[in-house]
Amino acid sequence: MSIMSDRIYLDYAATTPMRPEVLDAMLPYLGRAGFGNPSSLHVDGQRAKHALDHARGVLADALGVQFSEITFTSGGTEADNAAIVGVMLANRGRGNHMVTTQVEHEAVLRSCRFLEALGFDITYVAPNEYGLVSAESVADAVTGRTVLVSVMHANNEVGTIQPIADIAEAVHRAGTWFHTDAVQTFGLIGLATVDADLISLSAHKIYGPKGVGALYVREGIPMESLLHGGAQERERRAGTENVAGIAGFARAVELMLADRDALAARLTPLRDRLINRLLAIDGAVLNGHPTKRLPNNVNVSFPGTEAEALLMALDLAGVSASSGSACTSGSIEPSHVLQAMGLDDGRTRSAIRFTLGRETTIDEVDRAAAIVERVVESQRSIT
Ligand code: PLP
Repeated sequence: MSIMSDRIYLDYAATTPMRPEVLDAMLPYLGRAGFGNPSSLHVDGQRAKHALDHARGVLADALGVQFSEITFTSGGTEADNAAIVGVMLANRGRGNHMVTTQVEHEAVLRSCRFLEALGFDITYVAPNEYGLVSAESVADAVTGRTVLVSVMHANNEVGTIQPIADIAEAVHRAGTWFHTDAVQTFGLIGLATVDADLISLSAHKIYGPKGVGALYVREGIPMESLLHGGAQERERRAGTENVAGIAGFARAVELMLADRDALAARLTPLRDRLINRLLAIDGAVLNGHPTKRLPNNVNVSFPGTEAEALLMALDLAGVSASSGSACTSGSIEPSHVLQAMGLDDGRTRSAIRFTLGRETTIDEVDRAAAIVERVVESQRSIT
């Protein structure tokens, strides 16, 4: 069943609808029953504190880490900023160099630009034409001054899954800390074999609320707080916690863990069905890796069309999709990810991302493919 019965929502990488059980878990902390400040010592405060403790335990168990290693944030963006800016600022004595990739989310790239403005030195490793970064190229970029390496688990635009277990190993061999942005993967493939020192997560990509996320920081890694104020979150993030959001995040994680593998197994053939249907359209090309890709990601270019016009026509025809790249002041910027992959202009300008989720059906996939075919044809006849 789609979110609104007549529309086909294929933008789950942008955000997901909250599950009803998540809302139920949040309501007590939005109402009279659990409104207390978790830092207060009285019973009202302790009720909220209990919810925070429970949520922290859920997140820690989900990642297989310690309770004290989880910091709640306002989302994936803040988790990335805290990991990168916080760790680099706190460890200036160790060096001023950081390594990342050209295909990271803006939350990472802009944190790096901020550090550059402060005098830090950042190396941006290039991907191959599939958006894949090799462990060797990352390891080669590490120097004696490198404090941190940040490589996303999977790309939000083209869905390419990085070999981060190998990257983490190579980074550790070089004596450096490893951060990964797992915002797009947590709800689909997990991190079981990955030895990361810092991990960014976001609730609204896993059917939880917007405006809440978490950062795992391995015990013993110094990290400066970006927010200055109270001693919340073991002095890693000042400010009264978003108790309801955090309670909802934890519930979303519990529900997600119960069927993550089943969801990935169900979505993979749907993804491939959509890819095959779209590639049957004249001139269409797949962006991202053919097999090392998220089970819900389809990114296809339709050369001879413009993504912006296609998306508007798709929207009118009842399909919610995305270009996957930043939309600023109403116009779509060329994707830095597709550019880094070395794709030509015609392909970069006409790339559309379709991302599937819990409510996606085979009927929706087939209807969406037929609509895309019609829309691409009509756009081509205009231009
Ligand atoms: N990192 C990645 C890979 C993302 O896809 C996103 C959201 O699109 C973020 C970070 C930012 O997360 P949030 O929206 O929770 O700030």
